[in-house]
Amino acid sequence: MACGPDADVMLVASGIVKINVVTIFPEFFDSLLGISIVGRAIEDGALRVEVIPLREYGLGKHKQLDDTPFGGGPGMVMMVEPLSKALEPLAETHRVLLTPAGRPLDQATLDRFAEIDELTLVCGRYEGVDQRVADNYIEEEVSLGDFVLAGGEVAAAAIVEGVARLLPGVVGNPDSTLTESFRDGLLEEPVYTRPAQFDGDAVPEVLLSGDHARIEAWRREQRLARTRERRPDLMSDGEKSES
Ligand code: SAM
Repeated sequence: MACGPDADVMLVASGIVKINVVTIFPEFFDSLLGISIVGRAIEDGALRVEVIPLREYGLGKHKQLDDTPFGGGPGMVMMVEPLSKALEPLAETHRVLLTPAGRPLDQATLDRFAEIDELTLVCGRYEGVDQRVADNYIEEEVSLGDFVLAGGEVAAAAIVEGVARLLPGVVGNPDSTLTESFRDGLLEEPVYTRPAQFDGDAVPEVLLSGDHARIEAWRREQRLARTRERRPDLMSDGEKSES
């Protein structure tokens, strides 16, 4: 298989992964953990997920989690004490803070996470998290992309699902995680299924030819063309000049 810059990472994880998710909204994860790939990974024992309700570590009678920012400014900031209490017992795990200021999530990061025995994902809310949390209790900061969400839960869900599908036996055909977008540094080619004709729109003839060499050549051509058009930043110089 042609390999991109991440050729040295394992493409399918080898063991069981546990993921802890620290969140103010534990109920957010109810459906994710019960359905599809993630549900199957948990049922098969390849993945364990523990959702840790941060509210339990809140301060005082009202279980307070946030306060106004020092120096002024809008909104509220998540306080260091509740998070320190939640994260100290998880010091042996790889603790990841979800934040727009983190390194953008990509397939290579998911591959790496799928090889870590125990991962802890920390979901922020409000205006963000007191910097002393990241300084003292976090190994890595990860962003879902260059946009701002209301909380880290959607980013944590993306990581849970992205890791689950890399675990052994979870995706029915393991080849499907090896032949998709980003695996060879390119976007996936267009895919089609029945019917061969729909409203006068026909599937490319080559895919019906049964000629595997031609099909492979067509697929590579399509991956290159699509990536050149949409994501030239993913391509090596050699790929950019390949027709
Ligand atoms: N004031 C922060 C800033 O400008 O970077 C944004 C805070 S955001 C409203 C609240 C929380 O949502 C963050 O602490 C983070 O946990 C989460 N969040 C928002 N956008 C995110 C993204 N792109 N990736 C990961 N987490 C994100």
